[in-house]
Amino acid sequence: MNTLQLLHKQWIPKLELASRLFLIVGLLLSFILAYTGVLELPIGALCSFGMAFLVDTVARISLFHFVKCPHCHKNLAKFKNGKNMPIKQVYSSFEKCLPCRHCGRAPS
Ligand SMILES: [Zn+2]
Repeated sequence: MNTLQLLHKQWIPKLELASRLFLIVGLLLSFILAYTGVLELPIGALCSFGMAFLVDTVARISLFHFVKCPHCHKNLAKFKNGKNMPIKQVYSSFEKCLPCRHCGRAPS
């Protein structure tokens, strides 16, 4: 079990996947709508990019603000100096269920 499952935050990576899905499906849909003449392609593409960007932003904000250590309540996705960790490093440390950088206790 990884850190996000332990903290019941497994919806955050799903939200990032949803943003990619919004982009792909939205672009396909906008091509179809443009081909049938219902909606112009730039408008549909802009809506797809906008929706994907919005969902991805919500996922990033959730990752860097809502994943906190249950013991010391400090953010698990940030370094001790307060800077955000790179995304790959965050997910890697969550997969390995590494202990908190601030208090040293593993989330349980
Ligand atoms: Zn902690």
